[in-house]
Amino acid sequence: MPKKQTRQNLCPECETPVKDPYKTWELVAPFPDKKMRITVTIFGIYECPKCGKKFRAVVSKAKLGTESIEL
Ligand SMILES: [Zn+2]
Repeated sequence: MPKKQTRQNLCPECETPVKDPYKTWELVAPFPDKKMRITVTIFGIYECPKCGKKFRAVVSKAKLGTESIEL
């Protein structure tokens, strides 16, 4: 099983794969899990080059340990 999954974000209208989101933002979980890690989910807005449909999808997820956060 491959560790890293390359995500194909397909247009919900015409199923054209859309490479890059034109806008992204991070959603940080308000509470840490049992190991005191914070889950950060990166969302993106994609625009289909074929039909112009805009859709949201998860770009990636990351878990941050408190000791690895540097401000
Ligand atoms: Zn489309």
